[in-house]
Amino acid sequence: IIILGIESSCDDTSAAVVKNGVIQSNEVAGQKCHELYGGVVPELASRAHQQNIIPVVDLALKNAGITVDQLSAIAFTRGPGLLGSLLVGTSFAKGLSLSANVPLIDVNHLQGHVLAHFIQEEVGDKKMPTFPFLCLLVSGGNSQIIRVDDYLSMEVLGQTIDDAAGEAFDKCAKVMGLPYPGGPLVDKYAALGNPEAFKFSKPRVKEYDYSFSGLKTSFLYFLRDRVKEDPDFIENNRNDICASLQKTIIDILLDKLRKAAKDTGINDVSIAGGVSANKGLRAALTNDAERYGWNLFIPPFSFTTDNAAMIAITGYYKFLNKDFIGHDAAPYSRVTFDK
Ligand code: ATP
Ligand code: FE
Repeated sequence: IIILGIESSCDDTSAAVVKNGVIQSNEVAGQKCHELYGGVVPELASRAHQQNIIPVVDLALKNAGITVDQLSAIAFTRGPGLLGSLLVGTSFAKGLSLSANVPLIDVNHLQGHVLAHFIQEEVGDKKMPTFPFLCLLVSGGNSQIIRVDDYLSMEVLGQTIDDAAGEAFDKCAKVMGLPYPGGPLVDKYAALGNPEAFKFSKPRVKEYDYSFSGLKTSFLYFLRDRVKEDPDFIENNRNDICASLQKTIIDILLDKLRKAAKDTGINDVSIAGGVSANKGLRAALTNDAERYGWNLFIPPFSFTTDNAAMIAITGYYKFLNKDFIGHDAAPYSRVTFDK
């Protein structure tokens, strides 16, 4: 079974080939055009996807040593994401599916992030989580604790009521004058700073839900007040500010994850989404795993941010279920796990 996966939900154009659950290629073309604007500009993203999609798919097929006529199905990200971006991947997948006469599979991007844990680079190359497991999905648009009962059966136990964890990283980084996306830079500076240097308040939200907008506001006021006293405050304390901010975000995330693990009695715990690249978060999780006896699953860096390998692997499991979609499928910008 050979699946071509296509991902175009935000600002990365990606294509990947998965053969019987094993990745053969995974190509990603990023978009530099947004750097100037401090965030993704939807219209520019759509245009860049149009420019990138054919070369990226071509490269993925070439590097996998696969021709279009060998494909069993084409899987594409249907949502959630930016509609104009999704339309490019969706339309391309439909066109290729028609011309190659292979079935089409629609993939929920969030499910893809979760199933990134099942991407094998070599047959049997790693231990995978066993069902049911918990997944902390932390990305640019989502922060959720998910109970994963099977490849295609997942339930959201809790989620953010406002900003996502990635947004908290990016927006706070922006306030500090760092370029977009700021998450990786905060991570980098945090490694050199003291996480106890400054204290930020944590939200109170019910059960397993999250909230990050309050942190963003208190961070903004904190910097504004300090800069009033010392115009060079940010410059002189960048590492400590980043380390303290990062620690606060990690504490917020892990408090609820610990609670979910305790309440459900589930010991297999995993993390997914772009923020799971964060080194501080990975270290804190590794600590927790030791302390609470979790089996911890962290995907390799290349499968944490947006990539088509996770779309192809999800497509593979949907293929096994004969879960195909017609050519009238339209993308959706917002969706939860039940789609
Ligand atoms: P979604 O998947 O919810 O639609 P998205 O696809 O935009 O959102 P991802 O690509 O999964 O999100 O993740 C991007 C986010 O991850 C950005 O907010 C970015 O700042 C953050 N991020 C990436 N690397 C790191 C890091 N090392 N530390 C903190 N945040 C990071
Ligand atoms: Fe994503």
